Amino acid sequence: MTTRGELKEALESGKVEELKGFGEKSVENLLEGLKEKEKADRRILLAEALEISEMMLNELEKQKSILRLEVAGSIRRKKETIGDIDILATADSGEWASIADFFTSMESVTKVIARGETKSSVIVEHHDRQVDLRLIEEDAWGAALLYFTGSKEHNIQLRKIAKDKGFKISEYGMFTVDDDEKVAGKTEEELYDQLGMQWIPPEMRENNGEIELARKDALPELVQGEHIKGDMHFHSDWSDGTNSLEELARYLDEHYPYDYAVVSDHSKSSRIAGGLTGEEFEKQFEEIEQVNDAIGRPLLKRGVEVDILADGSLDLDNGLLEKMEWVTASIHSRFNQDNTERILKACENPFVNVIGHLTGRLIGKRREYAVDLEKVIHKARETGTALEINAQPERMDLNDDAVRAAREAGVLLVAGTDSHDLSSFQYMDLAISIARRGWCTAKNMLNTRSWEEVQAFVKQKRDQFLSPSK
Ligand SMILES: [Zn+2]
Ligand SMILES: [Zn+2]
Repeated sequence: MTTRGELKEALESGKVEELKGFGEKSVENLLEGLKEKEKADRRILLAEALEISEMMLNELEKQKSILRLEVAGSIRRKKETIGDIDILATADSGEWASIADFFTSMESVTKVIARGETKSSVIVEHHDRQVDLRLIEEDAWGAALLYFTGSKEHNIQLRKIAKDKGFKISEYGMFTVDDDEKVAGKTEEELYDQLGMQWIPPEMRENNGEIELARKDALPELVQGEHIKGDMHFHSDWSDGTNSLEELARYLDEHYPYDYAVVSDHSKSSRIAGGLTGEEFEKQFEEIEQVNDAIGRPLLKRGVEVDILADGSLDLDNGLLEKMEWVTASIHSRFNQDNTERILKACENPFVNVIGHLTGRLIGKRREYAVDLEKVIHKARETGTALEINAQPERMDLNDDAVRAAREAGVLLVAGTDSHDLSSFQYMDLAISIARRGWCTAKNMLNTRSWEEVQAFVKQKRDQFLSPSK
């Protein structure tokens, strides 16, 4: 066997099952893995696509003749995986030829697919991705941006509304049906306004009810990066992170405007991840205090990512959990079973404040385990437990749909980067984009609030479970 296709064929034919040591279940798992891999080969992670598009935009910005420049398509809508990358630019049409020349000869380009007057397509070395550059007339910018941002379903709806009003929309602008007179097109705002609605943030353009809200002037004010007051989940070298507490604190203090940052190292059951015992956590508390003294403010908070064990109990006793300021409980084992009951039980622990990476998926590598999201959301609401938006590029867990369901049920969301190194703190932006795709405002998230409010949330749950009247 030499190719993936041959492997798949052999697996499907049952030949592999006949080999010693290969059961039906492992063949199934291998096939499942192959399918996930194939799906992933066609698309890349949002974080990877953003990296490529930022690199391309930075290069293109050097062309002074370019007046406006933006990435469109599913990247602008912040979908979790991305196919091709669409970049739009405006410039005086006399400059288009030289811009196309520049684009097709950029250093990262490995192959030129097309070099046309208005559209050029290349393959870049990063992930072998296709990147298209479209050159637009200045007065069609908004129309092109709207058209190429999508989604298709959103745009179909807009076209219907336009038709009812006697207009037609194309990538060049909005025109009257009667005499082809252009009525809008320079900006997106102008187009939406002409259609009788608010400008809709790209992350919402999925035809999921956003158009109806925009027509009623009732769009939510989506959460933004600047609302975030702290990172709720990251690891230090006490477990499997690469940096010391002091390095983490100094880095965050210098680069992020955070009021708090919750150290959330693994508990002892996560042996590969260097999980800590209760005694080790007690020692870590002392170091947290020393580091806070050293930087002159209480930035680091006492937290843990405690393992949810097979029976739904926790890997640390309540006596220790009580000393934590914030407790994330996560599943790191038994991915092949339904984990609903384990999670429900964890929610019932008075010291668990949030369930980490709820579904356990790794995009393109491991499917989510079976979990009844509706039941978990209900239990989270009932017990005063938050749900995490884990910002690791492969996790993005919860995803947008789940965030929306949690928000609608009144469950608070918490964004954490789950960083294991300094560069991963930037992934907070990914968590924000998921929150925005789930229509969250700042109020729907806990870590947009002050530390006092976070602690009030913690206290409320403890009181609910531990008050003597109960
Ligand atoms: Zn974890
Ligand atoms: Zn973690």
